[in-house]
Amino acid sequence: MMDDFLEQAKRAVPQIEIKSDEPLRKFTAFKSGGNTRYFVAVNSIDQMVSIVTCAWNNALPVRVIGSGTTILARELGFSGVLIKNNCRRFELRGMRGKFADNQVNLPQAYLFAEAGAITNQVVRFVVDQGFGGIEYTLGLPGTIGGAVSVNANFPKENIRIGRAVYGAKVLTKEGIKDVDNSYFHFGFDTSQILREKSVLLSLLFALYPEEKKKLSERAEQVVTYRTNTQPKNFTTGMTFRNMSFTNLSPNSSLPDDVSLEFLLEKVGLLGYHVGDVEIWKENPHYLLNHGGGTMDQVETLLQHLKETVFGKFGVQLEVQLHSLE
Ligand SMILES: Cc1cc2nc3c(=O)[nH]c(=O)nc-3n(C[C@H](O)[C@H](O)[C@H](O)COP(=O)(O)OP(=O)(O)OC[C@H]3O[C@@H](n4cnc5c(N)ncnc54)[C@H](O)[C@@H]3O)c2cc1C
Repeated sequence: MMDDFLEQAKRAVPQIEIKSDEPLRKFTAFKSGGNTRYFVAVNSIDQMVSIVTCAWNNALPVRVIGSGTTILARELGFSGVLIKNNCRRFELRGMRGKFADNQVNLPQAYLFAEAGAITNQVVRFVVDQGFGGIEYTLGLPGTIGGAVSVNANFPKENIRIGRAVYGAKVLTKEGIKDVDNSYFHFGFDTSQILREKSVLLSLLFALYPEEKKKLSERAEQVVTYRTNTQPKNFTTGMTFRNMSFTNLSPNSSLPDDVSLEFLLEKVGLLGYHVGDVEIWKENPHYLLNHGGGTMDQVETLLQHLKETVFGKFGVQLEVQLHSLE
């Protein structure tokens, strides 16, 4: 017998396929976890709004994912509706400028992007059009909505995507809202979207014209940095909040610019693993899954790192995980 959610969702979006008990490993880069009770892939914002509304009306938890590159799923699975966002349209909009001295001078442009747009496609497009502002996200896996939800960072220069957000359309339990940058309260790997579990439908970025050659060179440097510092397969990114440790006690024997790599190397835990989960030895801000990794293994591993580093240096590592609850 069809339950109320299925019945209402089918009525609202007859053409959509809703799957039950799908393995979460199919939708996450880390490839772990049990099943999701329901799985739906949406191709338009109307479909997204209808499915989310039906789920909320039936008191089911909702989680929207882009490419699932941050998500760690538990063996118990997810008891709600997992929605894969395939809404991928984007375009330049509302260019403002003037014509003077026979030259078109464009001081600003806006990029409209549905939240499921693939970050690399969007960034290549705007760089190619000679607009800067989000080139630091080139080489980032996933979608623009995922990147903005976690306020993705270019770690080398600590430049976050949130600073380029001009506005957005967001679905909350009160309805659809047009919001500006201040709504997001962007933080370290987080935003209001994650805090209130709302749904990011589309974004508007403020961009600035730049000489194309300089822009492309900068963007390629960003890609090279990412290629050289990031793992390829079965990974989840950004496990620790502390990128630098600025509030060490004045009596600390550690250097001022101490890094996570330094601390883990000193305690002999770079590349440490529990079961199939490894803290990547090349860059310990990433976790690798060698096949059968589980959330329990992730938590045991991170706890061991935290306790060991605290025991030896008195430094409290702060962990940042995006788990599917
Ligand atoms: C190899 C590798 C390299 C990485 N490099 C970096 C890096 O340089 N800098 C960095 O900051 N991160 C990095 N990451 C982490 C991650 O890939 C990025 O932050 C990426 O932008 C996330 O996009 P996504 O589509 O995969 O998001 P997802 O993992 O699908 O989602 C991220 C979070 O946002 C939520 N979400 C996604 N879309 C929506 C929506 N439309 N509405 C509401 N909530 C939504 C999800 O539920 C989840 O909580 C890396 C990860 C890997 C595996």
